[in-house]
Amino acid sequence: MSGEGAAHPGLAPAFAQRRIDRAIAAYLGLALGDALGATVEFMTPREIAAQYAVHDTIRGGGWLRLRPGQVTDDTTMALASGAAILQSGGVDALAIARAFDDWMRAKPVDIGNTVRRGLMHFRATGLPEVAPSEHDAGNGAAMRVLPVALATLGLSEDKVRTACRAQSRITHNNALSDSATECLALMVQDALRGADRETLLQRHVIPLVNRHSEFEFRNAVPRSNPSGYIVETMQAVFQAFFGTSGFRECLVDVVNRGGDADTTGAIAGMLAGALYGQDALPEHWLATLDPPTRRTCETQARELLALTQ
Ligand code: MN
Ligand code: MN
Repeated sequence: MSGEGAAHPGLAPAFAQRRIDRAIAAYLGLALGDALGATVEFMTPREIAAQYAVHDTIRGGGWLRLRPGQVTDDTTMALASGAAILQSGGVDALAIARAFDDWMRAKPVDIGNTVRRGLMHFRATGLPEVAPSEHDAGNGAAMRVLPVALATLGLSEDKVRTACRAQSRITHNNALSDSATECLALMVQDALRGADRETLLQRHVIPLVNRHSEFEFRNAVPRSNPSGYIVETMQAVFQAFFGTSGFRECLVDVVNRGGDADTTGAIAGMLAGALYGQDALPEHWLATLDPPTRRTCETQARELLALTQ
């Protein structure tokens, strides 16, 4: 992989085109999973089944009373980060922190507690990094990592991990959050290079589980009602991603588990988009997705890749 993975102008056009296609699909997948899952966020699987049988339509509503196709913080924070990365020409924690601060000032439809606390810390201190915390193992840094993954494709693994931590620690400074976030970025990058699901499992997920056994998912009870705790979120995403074989199937599986469904949907969507590509995205989901959001995802995906490719 590494020869093809290095940034160089000689990248064969077919490979370059595949990367662009999958990067766009990952970004749209993030938004689609968010929009699909938000309807059933904080519901139990039983409540979802009673109301929808299977929830597989982007219909808005939910506790946030969204329009059909409207996205939440998972997507809008990623877009804020992506815009900041593009403006500074690379991953710069201070630039991203300022973008998140502007995002919070604009009164987003939802915001996590750890994210709010981290951004208040940034406002008070000017430091784009919170202190380490054993307790702040939420999924809020992982859900918005995609632009960093796209902007650092082709860089060394060390540099990718450093960039992930720079964006994460604006609000989350926790070993479980860091490891999961880095794992996701590296999975997306390998999927863009053409790795299959089994390779992603062996190369990234098994090492994550070996390092932090909390993430063990294969023998875990199917994770219903996953919370915003990064471990429960990742278990649900892994069970859905490795237990299905298509984009739509993966997202329907994960959001029908309820709980933090917009975020499990967003994370599963970025992985499944990167793996299966744009052809796998359901046309009627795309048609419902908020049009400006759709366009910005597509534009950012192309421009972020162009930073290193
Ligand atoms: Mn959300
Ligand atoms: Mn959420």
